[in-house]
Amino acid sequence: MFSFALTGALTAMKRALLFAASPGRGLRSLTFDNLALRSLPVEPGDGTEEEARLSRQVPGACFSRVRPTPVKNPRLVAASSSALELLGLSLEEEEEEAAEYLSGSRLLPGSEPAAHCYCGHQFGNFAGQLGDGAAMYLGEVLGPTGERWEIQIKGAGLTPFSRQADGRKVLRSSIREFLCSEAMHHLGIQTTRAGSCVTSDSSVVRDIFYDGNPKEEKCTIVLRIAPTFLRFGSFEIFKELDEFTGRRGPSVNRNDIRVQMLDYVIGAFYPDIQLKHADNKVERNAAFFREITRRTARLVAEWQCVGFCHGVLNTDNMSIVGVTIDYGPYGFLDRYDPDHICNGSDNMGRYAYNKQPEICKWNLGKLAEALVPELPLDISQSILEEEYDPEFQRCYLQKMRKKLGLVQLEREDDGKLISDLLETMNATGADFTNTFRALSRYAGDSISSEDFLDLLLEQCASAEELKVVFKPKMDPRQLSMMLMLAQSNPQLFALIGTKTDISKELERIERYTELQESSEEQLLKDNRARWTEWLHKYSDRLSKDRASVGDGISLAERVEIMDSHNPAFVLRNYIAQNAIDAAENGDFSEVRRVLKLLENPYNGNLSVLESGEEEEAPGAAAGPARHSQAPGGWQTRIIWIPAEKG
Ligand code: AMP
Ligand code: MG
Repeated sequence: MFSFALTGALTAMKRALLFAASPGRGLRSLTFDNLALRSLPVEPGDGTEEEARLSRQVPGACFSRVRPTPVKNPRLVAASSSALELLGLSLEEEEEEAAEYLSGSRLLPGSEPAAHCYCGHQFGNFAGQLGDGAAMYLGEVLGPTGERWEIQIKGAGLTPFSRQADGRKVLRSSIREFLCSEAMHHLGIQTTRAGSCVTSDSSVVRDIFYDGNPKEEKCTIVLRIAPTFLRFGSFEIFKELDEFTGRRGPSVNRNDIRVQMLDYVIGAFYPDIQLKHADNKVERNAAFFREITRRTARLVAEWQCVGFCHGVLNTDNMSIVGVTIDYGPYGFLDRYDPDHICNGSDNMGRYAYNKQPEICKWNLGKLAEALVPELPLDISQSILEEEYDPEFQRCYLQKMRKKLGLVQLEREDDGKLISDLLETMNATGADFTNTFRALSRYAGDSISSEDFLDLLLEQCASAEELKVVFKPKMDPRQLSMMLMLAQSNPQLFALIGTKTDISKELERIERYTELQESSEEQLLKDNRARWTEWLHKYSDRLSKDRASVGDGISLAERVEIMDSHNPAFVLRNYIAQNAIDAAENGDFSEVRRVLKLLENPYNGNLSVLESGEEEEAPGAAAGPARHSQAPGGWQTRIIWIPAEKG
């Protein structure tokens, strides 16, 4: 009996080893169980070649069967072993065969490619049917520990939802999504994952800057992994005529499908809620809405605390399970600027960094509307009002306290200390990530106040850099003339811009004039005064934290908490861009190296280089953030040195 069990275990182990060593086989033997397709209506038809790609409205269904379009000569750019492990896979050999599967050029046995039909509010307006126009559901894989993972390939060609576009993604966008999905996960933020990035010799034409300089780019496919890719917008397919846009959802009047979709979502992804409220659907639906409200609030709090801007927070880019989804024009803050807009087409700043919390709440309001009548609006709205702001504030403060090392006491005025810190960063043009990372040096007593001030000042912006930042967008003389005229004719205001725009522009002019009139020395003096003032408050607060010790924590423990909440390394745009540039020249090593660094964002040290200094600190060769020119002429003067291996 014993030996029989042992033999069985050995065989299982051997099988597991074979699995690990042989990705092609591993991929072929994935266990699919495509619950979503069984639980939700699929458009009739077998997805013949033509049908799978024919652009159309899809009423009465959540999925349409599709076929990935093969690419020429697919090859692996990079793979994330930790993401693939979720599926029980490791990619070590047989890259060629794996690339065929991971690009959709060959179909995985058990997969059932389908495109999901969803709608969405884009930039505040109902856009009608959107759907997976480039991504495809392949199926759900049962991982080694029994969890179920939906896998998708993004960029695998036309679907019924591709509309005028081609269903393809290129190296640029794919590398950005691949790296950031994994970066967010390793930062500890809930996100869809990326298992692989495969490029090819097939190409599509893209005009990156919309300036009439189109360029051929390589079709590239990302394997995405998540519990589900359903979004808030999945529930918007039932929307009745929208009074502003005249659009409606393709499945209007199909409450039966809304019921089905709610049963599926709650049953599969909120099983505890399903169990607890099995006999009262309104209560169950309310509990689900409460939970997604809280999860979303927590998610945004996490984003704010690492300076992550999503860039396109449309309702179709909001996950129904509360994870970060859809990495497009995202960006991590460099210089702290609360109004930072990372999406070049977001002219109004709807999705600016500091707008994210309120926008996600607005999106939850749209989800609430989409759940009527299964959840009456008065119930969902009061849940939203009760839960969202407090949950956001609670998480934000909790995380910020850890970032500042305020771990033993909670004080009323901590919020003020944090906003003063941000205000000081803003006024001095300090780098968000590096400033936070530096704090543990001070809190850990490893540096004198004077040296710490120098460290902070070193990574504030120079007058020249700030002049670029604050350069007025309008001619100041023209603006003042317009404002004068507008006094007597208020309609003219509309020509100049909104009130906020104008007051921001006025602030910009004031700051710019100040900078013009002051010298580098004066700026340094002002910055020193600003930081000294904040440091006094911080030092005071830290002492209170220390004095409150009962069985308190050691200095080293405080530093450890801080360092595990203040990343040393985030995926700055120029780091991603360097990797993309290399990959476009056929060298994938930078993508792989950056991925490695992103896997350990909380390890590493900061070292300061003088602007213009060329030599590298020891170990800096492996660091990506080395004195590099970021877009917009921004100089990152703090370099990142990865921790020694081992
Ligand atoms: P996104 O901005 O990525 O959230 O996408 C908005 C809508 O455009 C979704 O319906 C996408 O599926 C669709 N879409 C994005 N990229 C493409 C593409 N390359 N081809 C076809 N549809 C796309
Ligand atoms: Mg999207």
